Amino acid sequence: MSGEVDRLLVVLGDQLDDDAPLLHTADRSRDAILMMEVADEATHVPSHTQRTTLFLSAMRHFAAARRAEGWRVRYVELDDPDNTHTLTDEVVRATDTLAPNRLVVTQPGEHRVLASINAWRRSTRRPVDVLPDTHFLTSPDEFTTWAQGRRELVMEHFYRTQRRRHDVLMNGRNPVGDTWNFDKENRASLKTAPDVAAPRHWTPDATTRAVMRAVTQRFPDAPGVPEPFAWPVTRGDARAALEDFVVHRLPNFGTYQDAMWTGEPFLYHSLLSPALNLKLLSPRECIDAAVDAFDRGRAPLNAVEGFVRQILGWREFIRGVYWHEGPDYADRNALDATGALPDFYWTGATDMACMAEAIGQVRQHAYGHHIHRLMITGNFALLAGIAPRPVADWYLGMFVDGVDWVTLPNTLGMTLHADGGVVGTKPYAASGKYVQRMSNYCAGCRYDPAKRTGEDACPFTTLYWDFLIRHRERFRTNRRMAMILKNVDRFDAGERRAVQRAAANTLTRLGVT
Ligand code: SF4
Repeated sequence: MSGEVDRLLVVLGDQLDDDAPLLHTADRSRDAILMMEVADEATHVPSHTQRTTLFLSAMRHFAAARRAEGWRVRYVELDDPDNTHTLTDEVVRATDTLAPNRLVVTQPGEHRVLASINAWRRSTRRPVDVLPDTHFLTSPDEFTTWAQGRRELVMEHFYRTQRRRHDVLMNGRNPVGDTWNFDKENRASLKTAPDVAAPRHWTPDATTRAVMRAVTQRFPDAPGVPEPFAWPVTRGDARAALEDFVVHRLPNFGTYQDAMWTGEPFLYHSLLSPALNLKLLSPRECIDAAVDAFDRGRAPLNAVEGFVRQILGWREFIRGVYWHEGPDYADRNALDATGALPDFYWTGATDMACMAEAIGQVRQHAYGHHIHRLMITGNFALLAGIAPRPVADWYLGMFVDGVDWVTLPNTLGMTLHADGGVVGTKPYAASGKYVQRMSNYCAGCRYDPAKRTGEDACPFTTLYWDFLIRHRERFRTNRRMAMILKNVDRFDAGERRAVQRAAANTLTRLGVT
């Protein structure tokens, strides 16, 4: 690519928003787009082969769409022999070649990348404009304004503010249905195998196939399997995925949001987070589609409100926390957890039926729905005392929608309580009895979820009681933990020792050292 360039517009892999100010404010005749496939971004944590494929294929499709609109695009492919494989070096190389007057980039989704961008001014000797990411409904400054002066950052309070501010499911000042939150109607379990339509499958096109070959060649040891790869990679596909969800799964999404069933990785979940996090979809259009289904009588309120809460509430809240808490958030470890991540998180080879199912699904699809993430793989990591950082890295790299702003607060805060209560006021610890209630996994498992000691004691149940014993003084003043801790107080010293011994043996046997 040659010719004079005024502004070099740097588009990162999770910034595929064709409505971004970066493009609106640009001049196609004088500005150029830069996109880069760099190995660094696929290896700084082990990245599932489908996650890397999704990012790169979506990037190539985005670049092709912009070229078709008349943009000049400098696109560096993974197997380009001159590729330096780091973001900064590629930006410097492009700047040396194109000699732009300045660089423009949208605020990234990761502190690490923002630090790199801040260094571009020096390394390129050019001004660098960092534009706000208008994909989100709440800017980091708006979140900080909301957070200031609050003793606790309570998601429910934020969510209600968002509902009012964006006028979603509102009757004047009151919520539609006179209830803000239908969470209690989102917890049904399945009694028999569900009759749910499989989500729409996108067959890889030639571009995606080429990416799959390049990714397999460059990262032969990447975790996960490359196929079946069925994720939407264009804005058009993402729009169709939204429609597929609203028509076929949204009506039951609310009721069975927390349910799990063997061989059913998707159930009624939307599967929209990869397209949302790449910015192929906007949160507002997802919310509007769900609310429209409610208005037309095609989906009940408990489903639509539950979905809206995820997008307008939780997703925006988590991103707000990420920027509000700053880069040091990643180092928090309030429960002093130091255990190693066991090998079975990578292989799925464990005799715990629930863990084998959840991890097997991640290996096969680079996906797990939220209750798998929170109450199976996350709950185990919490109870076993695995150090937060390797768990956060696992969630970042192994899931097709993994981006730091979302996986870090969800892992450290919601899942591991490592932030000491910023995201959740109490740890989401649960025994095997919860898994038994919400799934059919325990029926096919060698362990007994009711037992906390003994040869067939469920590891979740053993570790749950051990967790409560270990942390009971820490949570003594937490009102939401009071009832649970009373049960531990009833244990005599012998019972406590038996649980602790069983937990130590379980951790050794499972490779948590
Ligand atoms: Fe998981 Fe325990 Fe149930 Fe087995 S018995 S599936 S380990 S919760």
